[in-house]
Amino acid sequence: MRTPKLFWRFINLITFTDIPIWQKIFLFAGGGIFWFIITALVGLGAVTYVNSSSHVLTDQVVPQIKASQKLIINIRGANVSVHNIVIHDDMETVSMNYERDKFLHGNITTTLTSLLEGGVIKDYSDLTGELIEEFEVEPLAENTSAKNHIGKVLNKSSRMRDSLETLMSLKMKKLGGAGLTQLENDQFMNALREYDMLTVQSVVELGKLTSSISVLQSKYTDNIKTVLQASMVLFIIIGVMAITLVIVFSYFLKASITDPLNAITNQIKGLSEGEVDLTKQIAIGSKDEIAQLSTNFNMLMNTIHDMNTFKKVIEEDDTLDDVYNRMAEVFYDQLGLDDLVMFEISNRNVMRLIDTPYSKNEICCNKEILVDSNLCRARKTGHTVSSITYKKICKQYLLSPEKYHVCVPIIIGGATGGIVQFNFDKSVTPEHEKPTPIIQSDCIARQILKAEQYIRESTAVIETKKLTSALKESAVKDQMTGLYNRRFLEEYVDTLVASVVRKGTQVGLLMCDLDFFKEVNDKYGHDVGDVVLKATANVISKSARSGDLVIRFGGEEFVVIVNDAKPGDTEEVAERIRKKIAETKVKTSGVVISKTISIGISEFPKDTQNFWEAIKYADIALYKAKDAGRNTVLKFKKEMWTAEAY
Ligand code: GH3
Ligand code: MG
Ligand code: MG
Repeated sequence: MRTPKLFWRFINLITFTDIPIWQKIFLFAGGGIFWFIITALVGLGAVTYVNSSSHVLTDQVVPQIKASQKLIINIRGANVSVHNIVIHDDMETVSMNYERDKFLHGNITTTLTSLLEGGVIKDYSDLTGELIEEFEVEPLAENTSAKNHIGKVLNKSSRMRDSLETLMSLKMKKLGGAGLTQLENDQFMNALREYDMLTVQSVVELGKLTSSISVLQSKYTDNIKTVLQASMVLFIIIGVMAITLVIVFSYFLKASITDPLNAITNQIKGLSEGEVDLTKQIAIGSKDEIAQLSTNFNMLMNTIHDMNTFKKVIEEDDTLDDVYNRMAEVFYDQLGLDDLVMFEISNRNVMRLIDTPYSKNEICCNKEILVDSNLCRARKTGHTVSSITYKKICKQYLLSPEKYHVCVPIIIGGATGGIVQFNFDKSVTPEHEKPTPIIQSDCIARQILKAEQYIRESTAVIETKKLTSALKESAVKDQMTGLYNRRFLEEYVDTLVASVVRKGTQVGLLMCDLDFFKEVNDKYGHDVGDVVLKATANVISKSARSGDLVIRFGGEEFVVIVNDAKPGDTEEVAERIRKKIAETKVKTSGVVISKTISIGISEFPKDTQNFWEAIKYADIALYKAKDAGRNTVLKFKKEMWTAEAY
């Protein structure tokens, strides 16, 4: 496990994966320049070496060889002069050749000395003695073999001059006419032979000298060849390395820059075309700006995905309270906004606390805002109100000394339909230390931004849900009295029965019917009848307890469901209704009408397990009450249930 990790870390290091793009480019260019410099240095080194070597050849070796060849020519020339002295008998030719021989040997000695110690070599014409050429030579003293050969030639040259002197003195005697003795003749011939032999030996030595200088020459030419070959090899190695590195770098640059950029481009394209997998994440293979971009892009996709999922879920939620619950859960769990209060604003300007398991059920503001929502700044302005941005921004907020608050309005159909209040402890930043730490407020700002996004996503759903529930309300409510109608009871009965069974409670059922109501219609007209009906509904509603349900069951019949009825509760409610109705005087169109009401009572599930049967029982009790003289409350008894079947 360790090795691959280390290996990849090394690869990341050498391929600049984890450094910013500008540094990548800088190092990439730097790498190019580095290889260029290396190549240039190798080339420069090779050229310098070849140049200096060829200088050695042209300035040192070539003149030395030239000088030794000149020496051979001079030695041969001197030999020719000696033979001319032997074969010619006129004085002028003899002395001319003698002088020439001496001159050549003098020249040979100077040249040899120059070769040995370095200096200028002068080349004169054999015939005229004119200076033809003049060149410099480097000393050969270091080259022991050459030095040895030069020494030998110097020695032989001096011996040749001795022989020349012997030859010349005998020749002069001969030319003087004295004639030579046999011995002198022999001496003459011996001197000539000696001279010839020394000439041959000198030429051989000079040949050897040339060879020993040539050894140096071939050494330099071999070195030049080696250097050129080595540079070729180096160029090839550098070339291969540079190409390999370019391929490797290009691959990793592609992997860390081009690939994620392409992936992001494709996702954006997909997003604009509506075909995108929001759960698909951009792979992050580096730690540079691209990685930052990819991370942010992934976060954006996650947010869009979360938001979409959230919207779909709340769209399918049954009730508005489910939606509020879901919103609170997101704020609390996902955004970490765990101190929140949610309000709903009704059309009547009334604010109510929304009760969810994630939001607080107590108000941090002046309670007045609940009855007059216009006191709430966020409600009034329709803007987010934040005490982080501006201290003590809202007068109604009571926790200013300990907490910050950010109140975000839920805008529905252009008006504020609700408020989400987020509270933050000030404990991290005491009051006297002025600004909130940037990091903390930045973090809060981000959380609030997200919360606002969620709220915006929810508004359409809240609006739809409110509309649906309003429509539903209107279908299950009676327009005239504002009470629930029979349809509501039909829809509600299953929930009611389930709740009663679960809680093991009793429900009291009151069937109420106005006495001789027809008379009102007949006497004063239908409209007056309606007014009396509305007043009756109002009296019944007020007489019932807050948890009880009042339903307009029929024309002038009302059903009251007394929830969670303890013994005696139902009778008490019924009696209160009866009394209040009897006491009520309805003033309308110049008349005062006073009516009475008869009420039948049954108990569910005490009287019967069937709810509708219990209703029927209450109805039976009602008729018994009518029979008993009206303005009466009667409780159902089994005996009342006679022949007629339900
Ligand atoms: P009792 O119940 O005491 O036996 O006599 P009653 O006169 O009240 O008789 P009943 O209950 O049978 O009469 C109901 C009358 O209520 C009949 C109808 O004209 C009237 N009614 C029903 N609905 C309305 C309504 O919406 N408005 C008005 N004005 N009258 C209604
Ligand atoms: Mg009736
Ligand atoms: Mg009636």
